[in-house]
Amino acid sequence: MAERTPLLSVRDLKKTYQGAAGPVEAVGSITFDVQPGELVCIVGPSGCGKTTLLKCLSGLLPPTAGSVTLDGAEVTAPPKKMALVFQEYGRSLYPWLTVRDNVALPLKARGVPKSERLALVERAIEEVGLGHALDTYPWQLSGGMQQRVAIARAVAYQPEILVMDEPFAAVDAQTRADLEDLVRRVWRDLGVTVLFVTHDIDESVYLGERVLMLSSSPTFVQEDLAIDLPDARDQLTTRAMPRFTELRTHVYEQIQRAKRGESVPATP
Ligand code: ADP
Ligand code: MG
Repeated sequence: MAERTPLLSVRDLKKTYQGAAGPVEAVGSITFDVQPGELVCIVGPSGCGKTTLLKCLSGLLPPTAGSVTLDGAEVTAPPKKMALVFQEYGRSLYPWLTVRDNVALPLKARGVPKSERLALVERAIEEVGLGHALDTYPWQLSGGMQQRVAIARAVAYQPEILVMDEPFAAVDAQTRADLEDLVRRVWRDLGVTVLFVTHDIDESVYLGERVLMLSSSPTFVQEDLAIDLPDARDQLTTRAMPRFTELRTHVYEQIQRAKRGESVPATP
């Protein structure tokens, strides 16, 4: 197969924080590519540097060394082609704006004309199943619904890559399952590239077409695993498949090895 041009390219990325007690080497060295249209999950234990990695690749934090390239251009500031969804939905929406206005805000900032904006906003809110809640306020919605609004806002912005940092860690199990299915639907319906970060092994295998396993800090990519589960996934049948169990067991074992310091970087 011919080499494709990656949408996102992370090369030998390192991040060392200057902590009060001296330097903290959070990200050791991370290298990977994401092709256009992929759904990639990044999984690693808490504190292993996932958020640090995302902040560096979204241009919010300068890396100590290495580079991030999006669509051929080096990332040095938050790129227009990227949208981010964080865990803290409560802090990411404006309480005094309706659902419709929260979703419209980044489009307004980008100067999208009003008629086009209205259409994009309504379509995105429809896509996340909140068509009935256009004129409500975030504080009138449950946590799961607020996170749907944050996803709609990211989707309406029409990013080339949607980056999500443990977006469902704070919602209950049933809501979480529904939101996982929403992410796969959005990925399929819109053809957007998705980079989804989680510490939850089952979630990474259920969602991803590919899982990048991270070691503990100083972080490196321990393994880049293709998820060969059927494309049409559902919470009951997919999670009951023997292949699902094999994959999650494999990821679990690798992460345990990493915690014991027994793993070595995967060769990209
Ligand atoms: P994760 O998202 O995987 O839980 P983080 O990227 O938040 O991990 O943190 C990775 C490591 O870097 C942790 O040891 C954390 O304490 C440290 N760290 C994160 N942010 C800072 C900071 N601003 N200054 C110093 N150390 C930090
Ligand atoms: Mg984090």
